[in-house]
Amino acid sequence: MDDTICAVATPVGTGGIGIVRLSGEKAMTIAARCTRLSGGRAWETAENHRLYRGDIVEPAAAPGTQTQVLDQALIVIMRGPRSYTGEDVVEFHCHGGMLVLHNLCAVLVREGARLAEPGEYTKRAFLNGRLDLAQAEAVLDTIQAKTDAALRQAQEQLRGTLSRTLDHLRDRLIVLLAHVEAGIDFTEENIDFVSRSELSGGIQTTIDTVTGLIETGQEGRILREGISVAIVGRPNVGKSSLLNALLQSDRAIVTPIPGTTRDVLEETLNIRGVAVRVLDTAGVRESHDPVEQEGVRRSQRAMQEADLLLIVMDGAVPLTADDRELLGSQPGKRRLIALNKSDLNHELGVEEITAYLKPESSGPIVRMSAKTSEGLDELKDGMRTLVLRPDFEPGETAVVTRLRHQTALAQAREALEHARDSVQAGMPGEFIAMDLRAAADALGTITGAVCTDDILERIFQEFCIGK
Ligand code: GDP
Repeated sequence: MDDTICAVATPVGTGGIGIVRLSGEKAMTIAARCTRLSGGRAWETAENHRLYRGDIVEPAAAPGTQTQVLDQALIVIMRGPRSYTGEDVVEFHCHGGMLVLHNLCAVLVREGARLAEPGEYTKRAFLNGRLDLAQAEAVLDTIQAKTDAALRQAQEQLRGTLSRTLDHLRDRLIVLLAHVEAGIDFTEENIDFVSRSELSGGIQTTIDTVTGLIETGQEGRILREGISVAIVGRPNVGKSSLLNALLQSDRAIVTPIPGTTRDVLEETLNIRGVAVRVLDTAGVRESHDPVEQEGVRRSQRAMQEADLLLIVMDGAVPLTADDRELLGSQPGKRRLIALNKSDLNHELGVEEITAYLKPESSGPIVRMSAKTSEGLDELKDGMRTLVLRPDFEPGETAVVTRLRHQTALAQAREALEHARDSVQAGMPGEFIAMDLRAAADALGTITGAVCTDDILERIFQEFCIGK
């Protein structure tokens, strides 16, 4: 934290402008040496949060020698604590060539700064109390959001909706804990600062709130991370055509991802606000050809890993043995059945498929055509309904979007249930206090009120350099 750090904050590559960020105790002195503000303005007179034009210069190596101008830039000074990190920050808005930006960083390093580690600016913001851990994570989610819904949720978390709910919950627990601990000090006198029933009621209310939050976790994570859908079916039923039809109507977020196997094609789409990673698999059928067998194996792996199966059937031909096997595969996994080629003769009916579906392998059936796009909207609605409640609105309330948070909440709930049981069993206050403290600590890890280096390292290693 004593170091002054610098990094290129804009993406790698060329652009109209590129920004270098400098933060720390020596930011002002280093920046003053490396800039000449226009009109001969003295650095000390520059106001906070104002953009100044100036030259970026390489300070002279020796008195009397020429300073070298690296670039013309716009420079903004944000003196701490009114800055992102809470420290003195200077941002240089340069021409967006990588060389310009690297040269500037090299000069800043020569003058006493060091290159920032990934996420170090946000980490400093957290350590300086500018935001809490859940908000720091929301910064990352904001950057990485792939759908509007995910973005809205991330921004809600950044504004502190989740943090406030958790802080409130933790405060209530700490009050309960204080009462229990006070009771422990006066056990000899038989004084209780809170009645057993009050205590157990208070704990139960907290358990209910924690449970409510845990329940938002599944949808929250779907919103943040998206889901993966494997398109499966016999060869020629129209899997690739269906993927293309989806691609035409929904902007692909990512072009085909390089490195995926030839036979399992991957695309990410925005379907009704959910980022959907679609895996187009090779046709699944009995085969003796070793290459095809490998393709089928990979398809099966994709099916196992997917959150949802989109089983495609050819509605223009009767059901085959392969179809039947597919309908029954991966029991328990959520599935949607697309009865394709509705523009042709109907040889296969919804009822016929339903007859083959066991309860553990049932799912909505949509008659559709990849050729005419008939039924495509219904298919997309079906996909969303399978993973999100119909009335789910992102960005309205506190929603848990990370596994880290969900794990902490589960730990808190377990400790609270212990505490409640101990109260009901008339156990001594020490036991109850221990569990209440454990619950409060678990909740505290989410916002960082309780925090270890280990947690910090895990969170910030996900960030990019310059954030
Ligand atoms: P895949 O092997 O399952 O990926 O199937 P393809 O997408 O390659 O399609 C196989 C054949 O079926 C192609 O000739 C497509 O043009 C045709 N096809 C796919 N979907 C439809 C559809 O909805 N209607 C009609 N008439 N033909 C379709």
